[in-house]
Amino acid sequence: MTSSKDIANKGLDTGTSNGDTTRLNGAPVPSEQHSVTTGPQGGINLHDMHLTEKLAHFNRERIPERVVHAKGGGAFGELTITEDVSKYTKAGLFQPGTKTPMLARFSTVAGEQGSPDGWRDVRGFSLKFYTEEGNYDLVGNNTPVFFIRDGIKFPDFIHSQKRLPDTGLRDANMQWDFWTESPESAHQVTYLMGDRGIPKTWRNMDGFSSHTYQWINAEGERFWVQYHFKTRQGWEFLTDAEAEELVGQNTDHSRQDLFEAIERGDYPTWDVKVQIMPFDEAEDYRFNPFDITKVWSQKDYPLIPVGHFTLNENPRNFFAQIEQAAFAPSNLVPGIGFSPDKMLLARAFSYADAHRHRVGANAEHLPVNSPIKQVNTFSQDGAAAYRFADPSLPVHGSNIAGRGSQESLDGGDLGLWAAKGEEPFRGAYIHHSEDDDFGQAGTLVREVLDDEARDRLAGNIARAMDGVSPEVEEKCYIYWTNVDEWLGSEVKKRFQENKA
Ligand code: NDP
Repeated sequence: MTSSKDIANKGLDTGTSNGDTTRLNGAPVPSEQHSVTTGPQGGINLHDMHLTEKLAHFNRERIPERVVHAKGGGAFGELTITEDVSKYTKAGLFQPGTKTPMLARFSTVAGEQGSPDGWRDVRGFSLKFYTEEGNYDLVGNNTPVFFIRDGIKFPDFIHSQKRLPDTGLRDANMQWDFWTESPESAHQVTYLMGDRGIPKTWRNMDGFSSHTYQWINAEGERFWVQYHFKTRQGWEFLTDAEAEELVGQNTDHSRQDLFEAIERGDYPTWDVKVQIMPFDEAEDYRFNPFDITKVWSQKDYPLIPVGHFTLNENPRNFFAQIEQAAFAPSNLVPGIGFSPDKMLLARAFSYADAHRHRVGANAEHLPVNSPIKQVNTFSQDGAAAYRFADPSLPVHGSNIAGRGSQESLDGGDLGLWAAKGEEPFRGAYIHHSEDDDFGQAGTLVREVLDDEARDRLAGNIARAMDGVSPEVEEKCYIYWTNVDEWLGSEVKKRFQENKA
């Protein structure tokens, strides 16, 4: 079996040494200290090829940072399946006893490269499993829900969380304007403003697929599935005051914490659990199960244990293996499919496309992204192509040799619900009996949080509103009153006290 160590070492140039260095063409470097000048005090000579090559390469060291989730860190590890969920999925990586090497990347959402790990923000929770059937990627978060339910609003949402065009500053007014104009955000914003909005470290948070996917078993039966990754390190958080102090001392504390924990052999582990909904129950469930702003109540669909994953190998090179890592929910494997979740379907296009722009058309040729499964494709060429097929094979589909003539309906990406023969449609999600934008956020506030957590939530919200205009301030009170009457009036009281 390919281990996490094998994956972490993929691409490591074993020929490098502490001895004499070479130019990129492998020829000896004349000097790393002195450039060639015309006499000891003259101009620099352009034909000092090592100098010009060194400077030119340096100028090209950065690739575009991710527009979202730019600041992150990650590590390699191993997924182990301890339970039998084969009645729900035939996917090889989830069969009992299977071990699969993997990569995890954690991140903040809105901050740029170099921004503090301790900002109040949702945390990205991306996983890439190098399975025997191809790479399987899950791009979740540390929350089970999301701010919006249709990918068409995603650029607007991110613009509102990033920076103003003139000042280049982040702006509470546009954040709250977007949220209060988008009531479907209420559940996620309640999470964000609550204790879980600043996890103490990445090791101290759970992960969620957030999206609903399909699992398909060997008999072709389909189920809806949501993944939960429960930290064995315990859920821990920082208060606003603690985070503020920490960020002043260390902007990279989560990146450092993960790296150092793995170096000392304290490998972080998450239990893998799923909620399973029988295919036909989706239609009548009290919440629309494809709406990512909702959870499926655990009372209706309890967590089912599957196994666990452990991160046990640090990257050997941050840029090559974390910055260039390309996670995309379009990377599915047989036994797993999409659901009619519009955020998921938009991301299925958008993530792969972002990497084509950011890393290049051949991002999957890089060791960190390439599958352990043999790739056999008609896709070819493009910038920095590294892999190529046996030249004796046809390069086009529809060939006499029969290469690529299979008609497998098992590519993993099938099974959209549109199989019901529906016409293209642009409109809202189908409304289920208990669907509304504020209900589940209110349940979280009233039934899940204790008095102290509720109190911190109100304080966090009031502080995060600092800087909003009077119009947006009013909208915030309505928004939070809709979530919970007590919370609305408490936020108002605290905000006005803070202003006084
Ligand atoms: P349950 O009582 O079955 O589940 C409540 C869940 O809330 C717990 O499992 C726990 O999940 C989570 N939770 C506990 N403390 C906090 C906190 N401080 N902040 C956020 N979440 C917390 O009820 P339901 O499943 O019917 O859900 C009720 C509400 O709980 C929902 O509206 C939702 O906001 C929230 N919730 C539900 C989840 C789900 O998947 N059903 C997951 C997380 C929250 P955990 O295991 O993560 O500690």
